[in-house]
Order: sequence, then C-alpha cells, then structure tokens
Amino acid sequence: MEEKIRIGFYALTSCYGCQLQFAMMDEILHLLLNAEIVCWYMLDRDSAEDEPVDIAFIEGSVSTEEEVELVKKIRENAKIVVAVGACAIQGGVQSWANDKSLEELWKTVYGDAKVKFKPKMAEPVEKYIKVDYKLYGCPPEKKDFLYALGTFLIGSWPEDIDYPVCLEC
Ligand code: SF4
Repeated sequence: MEEKIRIGFYALTSCYGCQLQFAMMDEILHLLLNAEIVCWYMLDRDSAEDEPVDIAFIEGSVSTEEEVELVKKIRENAKIVVAVGACAIQGGVQSWANDKSLEELWKTVYGDAKVKFKPKMAEPVEKYIKVDYKLYGCPPEKKDFLYALGTFLIGSWPEDIDYPVCLEC
C-alpha cells in the first residue's frame, strides 16, 4: 500500500483563522484521503509536534521565546515548511507595534499579570527558519490552499501565487 503523506498544521501567535479556513474547505476530505494529519493544533494543542511530517503548515508570528524553539523543532521534523497567512509571513497585526518597547506593550496588554511564556517582539517565521513556500492572505483564500496542498500531494511543486494588491492582508 502507498504510504500516506504526513501533514502537520501548527499555530504560533495567531487568531487560528488560517486553520479555520483550511478546516472549512469541503474539498479537504477528498484531498486528505492520501494524507495523514499528524498534528493539528486547532483540534489538539498537545498533538504530536515532535513527529516527522512531509509538509508543515505554520500559522502565526513568532512572539515568544518558546515559539522560537517550536519553529526550529518543526523545521527539523519537516521536509517542506509552508508559512500560512500574514502573521507567519510578515508578523501580522501584532508586529505593527514593534516601534514600541516590549515592556511598554507588555504593560498595555497584560498589566501586572503573570504568564508562563517569555514574550518577545512579534516576527515572521522566516526570521528563524527556512520557509519553502508562502500562502499569503489573512487568511489565505481557499482556492490557494487547495492549489498548494493538491500540488504537494501529487508530488509536484506549486508556483508562487501573485498577490499584486496587498501583501499584508
Ligand atoms: Fe488570523 Fe489573519 Fe493571522 Fe491567519 S493571518 S492567523 S487569519 S490574523
């Protein structure tokens, strides 16, 4: 029997909108007949991020020290890394305040609250790891998801999709 293509869908700092777009594609069930979803944060935040995958889709900006380590781990375990959406590709809305200090931002958002993670300024995934393909949009359009995923699943490589109007949205 032919081996299934292993897919992971990971989220960093994001609104989960890109994953939702992916999940809402009716056609996805047909495409995934030949694939195995190894990790999908939307369904299970503790799913197997250490497992090797053929294609890793990453949503969200790198906004904590923990996420720096996570993207490196995802890269090590993936043959192809796809940055999905404006947060992963450009840092997203959360990176627009990068002209302010981390301390200033932190105080505004969290006040004196204690959190378990170590925050940092929001940055694109590509700042830390090699990205093989990018799906622009906020979220990317379904047809672009389908094109890229379908092309990878038949063992080919999708062409870059042209986004002439607005790269950030
Ligand atoms: Fe949400 Fe847009 Fe970021 Fe995707 S790119 S996670 S839809 S804010």
